[in-house]
Amino acid sequence: MSVEHTKHAGAASDDLDLRDLDVVVVGAGMAGLYLLHRLRNEGFSAKGLEAGDDVGGTWYWNRYPGARCDIQSVDYSYSFDPSLETEWTWSERYATQPEILSYLQHVADKHDLRDDIEFSTRVESARWDAAANRWRLRTDQGTEVTCRHYVMATGCLSLPKSPEIEGADQFAGEVYFTSRWPHEGVDFTGKRVAVIGTGSSGIQSIPIIAEQASELTVFQRTPNFSIPARNGPVRQDKLDAIAGRHAEYREEAKWSRGGVPGEPPELSALQVSEDERNVAFEEAWEAGELAILGVYNDILTNPASNELLAEFIRNKIRSIVDDPEVAETLCPTDYPFGTKRPCLDTGYYETFNREHVSLVDLRKHPITTITETGLNTTTDSYEFDVIVYATGFDAMTGAIVSVDIEGREGQRLADKWSAGPKTYLGLTTVGFPNFYMITGPGSPSVLSNMAVSIEQHVDWVTDCLVHLRAGGFDTIEPTEEAEEGWGLHVNDCANITLYPQANSWYMGANVPGKPRMFLPYVGGVDAYRQACSDVVENGFMGFELTGPGKRSGTSGIVRRLQPDVAFLLDMMASMDLPPYESMSAVDARAFGEAASAERPPGPEVGEIVDGTFPGAAGDLTYRLYRPATPGPHPMVLYFHGGGWVLGSEQSDDPLCRDLCDRSGAMIVSANYRHAPEDRFPAAPDDAVAALEWIHENAEALGGIPGQLAVAGWSAGANLAAVVAQHARDNDGPTITGQLLLTPVTDGDLDTVSYRENGEGYGLTKPLMEWFWDHYLDPSDRTDPRASPLRASSLAGLPPATVITAEFDPLRDEGVAYAKAMAAAGVAVHHIPARGHTHISIPMVDVMLSAAPIRQEMAEAIQSFFPVVATV
Ligand code: NAP
Repeated sequence: MSVEHTKHAGAASDDLDLRDLDVVVVGAGMAGLYLLHRLRNEGFSAKGLEAGDDVGGTWYWNRYPGARCDIQSVDYSYSFDPSLETEWTWSERYATQPEILSYLQHVADKHDLRDDIEFSTRVESARWDAAANRWRLRTDQGTEVTCRHYVMATGCLSLPKSPEIEGADQFAGEVYFTSRWPHEGVDFTGKRVAVIGTGSSGIQSIPIIAEQASELTVFQRTPNFSIPARNGPVRQDKLDAIAGRHAEYREEAKWSRGGVPGEPPELSALQVSEDERNVAFEEAWEAGELAILGVYNDILTNPASNELLAEFIRNKIRSIVDDPEVAETLCPTDYPFGTKRPCLDTGYYETFNREHVSLVDLRKHPITTITETGLNTTTDSYEFDVIVYATGFDAMTGAIVSVDIEGREGQRLADKWSAGPKTYLGLTTVGFPNFYMITGPGSPSVLSNMAVSIEQHVDWVTDCLVHLRAGGFDTIEPTEEAEEGWGLHVNDCANITLYPQANSWYMGANVPGKPRMFLPYVGGVDAYRQACSDVVENGFMGFELTGPGKRSGTSGIVRRLQPDVAFLLDMMASMDLPPYESMSAVDARAFGEAASAERPPGPEVGEIVDGTFPGAAGDLTYRLYRPATPGPHPMVLYFHGGGWVLGSEQSDDPLCRDLCDRSGAMIVSANYRHAPEDRFPAAPDDAVAALEWIHENAEALGGIPGQLAVAGWSAGANLAAVVAQHARDNDGPTITGQLLLTPVTDGDLDTVSYRENGEGYGLTKPLMEWFWDHYLDPSDRTDPRASPLRASSLAGLPPATVITAEFDPLRDEGVAYAKAMAAAGVAVHHIPARGHTHISIPMVDVMLSAAPIRQEMAEAIQSFFPVVATV
């Protein structure tokens, strides 16, 4: 459907008052239009400044043939105006650029937004005037605009990247950029055309250009994964999902991971049979949606799962493209699927079966120069009538820093961001009061349905301005602490995915010299929305609000847990599990074993041997994990966690496998007697017996005599510390190192970490009380064999690596033990595991964020021995 609209062309008109506005909005795309609408409805004086001569933003500029959205149009559209849902009917699943532009023009007309926009006006600079608490903007029309609040609604993919090809200005034929396409269109009929670039813009335009051109040569640097869009009328199942429940459907989108309603996948690609997986892949391929990325829950986190889908798509490419060599050139092989933005196409791969279309692999034959008549590669010369650059954008930050923005104390945003953007919530940045970015770096933006993310940011900013006005505040600015915390969280989210592995525009890698960092927030639209709401509900946490004689806002960091740790804790809370301390020890053990049976097994090791050794009061079991490398190996005597009540030599199996695999050392997990059946000092007595036995039998076990370290987790780390003290005090056996993972070191539960983390982080204070009470009498709590921190001296102990978790009740006693050992002259390496809990670090293949910590632990083990052969 297309609706007549009135177009405002031309430069800023004289009759508009551009001084002392409440808000200036830069950009009149999807974000700017809705923002102006909301600001006006809230009674703010606001103006939009737009470089183009009409509304539309990305859909105004990107008019290349074949341009269309790749999120279904019923989703990629506004939700704020319910009447739009019925008065506008999309003609296709994925609407064309002209239809989307008409839609935005319709919205602008319907809500009478054009009067509030200065078209053909580009903002060149913006300066914060601290004396006046106002922004002063200069435009290319020579106008100065002043405003209290300044919003960049300039889009994530709006500043074209220069093609960076030598001789680009020499070509005498026609030159076009997909991102700045002529309004009158281009006729390629009978022309020899080159297209450089095979991202979304190239992949959409190539099949259509091929329809007209007499010859088309595609210059590909990196092949892209593309899925057939299977465009057509909006499908009935989609219409059914929305019919009669628009508002609910839109609400579901707001609380979905990617901004489109849908159930998140529960299974890993590796949890199903090959047949089942191929059926699922085939269905996703047939569906023609980017939702293929979520067909399993680990496509973007597990390289093995990702490769299965990547190879499925490569096989599709091979089946479509006739020439096997061309097919292989079109197959991406050097980055995981999805880590560069995948595309939806219409006949892209088929185009390469046409006689007059050829593909040049720039990896094999790079362009050396553009010439007056065409271009040269290292091996060939080509002549063309037209060159089309589909070479992309300086994404996410380019448009923002292309304005010379100067904040408090003369700081330039471009300088502040020279090592990469720093933002709070992707909305604001320290040093730039009353400055906002719609879908800025550090927000879900390009990883989501932009329409949903845009509306969320616009609502957040507008509600914030209403709050400031109601409270009499003039300024708002984030704190350093909040911004740094958000930056860590954005990185933490990215680092558990495969995204950082690709040279993508998400990483800034497409622009030479741009700092390499993952720019958007990958934690999900739902999680992000919750974080933004939490900030507001907690009194604008991480912001400082100022007004005449007043200050507001609260300090703090809105997200401190590692994202996968938070996810697990939420899941555990929703399961409403009975607390261990409500059970008998026997039932608690059965419960723990049942839970352990569900976990991933951990990596393969060379060999696993089960056996018995003489404990202090009878035989006990052990499990030995031998590396795959030729022996003999250095040995680590390991004690499991479980509060001296739960567990066995097998209960930390995945962790033992992981440490063995990563360190190349042999791990021997020795059991010990448990309370309440065998109370203190049964466990330390057995631990000492295990130490003596392993020392005496090192050679027989395949170990290197004299190369023996101790390790443990939680109560097991307590035992490791205790046997280290015992060996020191009893002339051996010699221990070369102690690896203490979140150790129990003291029976005093009155610490800050107990107060802060005693509930809600897996291990609770009531559970630790239950463990201690089962283990020993209160009067024994100060015995150094129970509380090694209480030893009269810690001097002379073997080198130690102590890992403490930020959200662990035991954190402070672990830190205290590390400090006390260091003070006594012991070589101590302390690893504070940021955002982790007591239970998260041993969760192999569950807590991806813990893998680097376990790697550090493995390196610590290696450091305990002279030479360790790594696998
Ligand atoms: P892009 O994805 O960055 O693709 C640019 C292409 O140009 C890449 O193949 C790149 O190769 C190549 N290139 C860049 N400089 C080059 C050079 N000097 N020599 C040779 N090749 C060069 O840009 P885009 O296609 O415009 O798409 C950008 C984003 O916009 C998309 O990822 C998508 O998010 C959005 N978009 C969406 C739609 C849609 O909704 N349907 C349509 C268009 C765009 P390398 O990969 O080797 O750098």
